[in-house]
Amino acid sequence: MEITLVQGDITEQPVDAIVNAANSSLMGGGGVDGAIHRRGGPEILEECRKLRASAYREGLPTGQAVATTAGRLAARWVIHTVGPVYSKSEDRSALLASCYRESLRVADELEARSVAFPAISTGVYGWPMDDGARIAIETVRHADTSVEDVRFVLFDSAAHAVFEARLSG
Ligand code: ADP
Repeated sequence: MEITLVQGDITEQPVDAIVNAANSSLMGGGGVDGAIHRRGGPEILEECRKLRASAYREGLPTGQAVATTAGRLAARWVIHTVGPVYSKSEDRSALLASCYRESLRVADELEARSVAFPAISTGVYGWPMDDGARIAIETVRHADTSVEDVRFVLFDSAAHAVFEARLSG
């Protein structure tokens, strides 16, 4: 597997699957989630609604992942995963690692070979970027998957620099 870093907007990535840092409602939100629904169009939300009416009546649990169409995006699928909210008093790293692992498992089910990830939980959910990057890279590196091309798409140069340091370290 090749791991690369890109600075930019995840919605513009021409990959098989884009991972969404969703919330458990699957009904959209800010950050990556808002950008994906805005650019991908209503088809994505429509499929999310169907998931909420069937397999995920209580919402998508933290650490799990589920796929929908990517609507108007260049990607074929969006894989929605729910990161943990950062906590100083409780170690939720296993849940964050699970997001990356489960997203790759869903990608394998779809036979996706290229996957773009955002830095899950490092926005509104407050995870420190350096620790988020460490968990992201370690988990993806050790994952048992047929995905060949993993791209971490970092929104700004600071996040990109943190991932670069972790990737080469
Ligand atoms: P979470 O709720 O899991 O913290 P956010 O979407 O708030 O998710 O943020 C996750 C990370 O994605 C943050 O580092 C944020 O800066 C970054 N981000 C926000 N919008 C985009 C985008 N369009 N493309 C790539 N990364 C983005």
